[in-house]
Amino acid sequence: MKQGVDVIYQAQLFDEKNSLIGNPDFLIRHENEAYQPADAKLSLSELKKEIQVQLGFYRLMLGTELPGIVFLGDGREALIGDEANAVTNQFITEMRGLLDSPDEPLVRYSHSKCLACPYYDHCKPGFVEKEELSLLYGVQGRSAAGLEALGIDTISRLAATDPRGMADVPYLKGSKKDRAVLQAKSWFDGKVYQTGDVVLPDGQWVHFDIEDNPLTASGEKHVYLWGFLVPAYGDDQFETVWTDSDDQDYDGWLGFLEKVEGYQARYPELVLAHYSSHERSTIASYARRYGMEAHETVRYLLGDDSPLFDLQKPVLESLVLPLQGYGLKDICKHPDLVNFQWQDEESGSQWSVVQFNRYLEETDPVVKAGLKTAILGYNRDDVIATRRLEEWLRHTFN
Ligand code: SF4
Repeated sequence: MKQGVDVIYQAQLFDEKNSLIGNPDFLIRHENEAYQPADAKLSLSELKKEIQVQLGFYRLMLGTELPGIVFLGDGREALIGDEANAVTNQFITEMRGLLDSPDEPLVRYSHSKCLACPYYDHCKPGFVEKEELSLLYGVQGRSAAGLEALGIDTISRLAATDPRGMADVPYLKGSKKDRAVLQAKSWFDGKVYQTGDVVLPDGQWVHFDIEDNPLTASGEKHVYLWGFLVPAYGDDQFETVWTDSDDQDYDGWLGFLEKVEGYQARYPELVLAHYSSHERSTIASYARRYGMEAHETVRYLLGDDSPLFDLQKPVLESLVLPLQGYGLKDICKHPDLVNFQWQDEESGSQWSVVQFNRYLEETDPVVKAGLKTAILGYNRDDVIATRRLEEWLRHTFN
């Protein structure tokens, strides 16, 4: 901050006097030279209060009047300002009360939160020892409380329950109950359970993944890399549309559409495979941004006969895996599942944003080229991973 850099990634805020620590995803230097906190979130809807407290806490630590920014998964942004002060102060008071208490509070496991928490090594063994239900993928805190009210208070008990006779509990109804029971069995035996046919479309598959930067002057995310792995899926069959900055955002978008048109002509039964809904929602947001919803290629991409295929869907619909998260890396890195390893172990989508922002600021052409090579390598590994996942699904479940 003293150096006045534009963006700080994973900042470490420490207020020794008041014993406060905060780790905002980003600190962004404002034109008045103050820093503005920002976090990336999938959506605002679920945990609105928690997000308000989180951003309110960073604002308090920074002593800034600037609102905190929430970058949402669908490309939108939300601002959190003084309206969050009351809940933030209440949170701090309650936390101080907890810290003063000799008893640990009763808490649930949350895979995304606990993995990133400094208390992980303290809390996880306790959760495992008592077979806390929320350790299971798909069993949220409120579902766990509902199961406990039914007398199902451990993973062993859930694994031994017949889901057909189990009453509905919050967020666990119908087939979700079957999945929860199988997830409990998988916790102990490490097996994969198949709950339905794994249906993959026929055609010529092109694997597709994007990298985007939310830290732009306009506030609209910039897709700096549209990456594709085309048949016959070798390392040299990795194709890209790259743009150097958000000034070229429109060119990149048109380059992407041109690529799709080329694939459409080359592959009569094109399947544009990606993992999760992010690629489709980004295409929709770009079409809106440039008023191109009626463009022929956009309608082809987003219409009823869309070539886009989300590979996460058959996984979530038909398989129960011995995992606590169902991200691409969770499945692909697991040695008993796809067993594909990324060349750079540090890499990830936030890592890629950081490398790209370093790329933007770098003036040495050799270092700049090295950063671009690293980003391209990460994206290439992502599309190779979705290809390996496709192969694994075909070989194992068909
Ligand atoms: S690791 Fe412990 S302290 Fe951290 S979020 Fe999880 S339950 Fe809370």
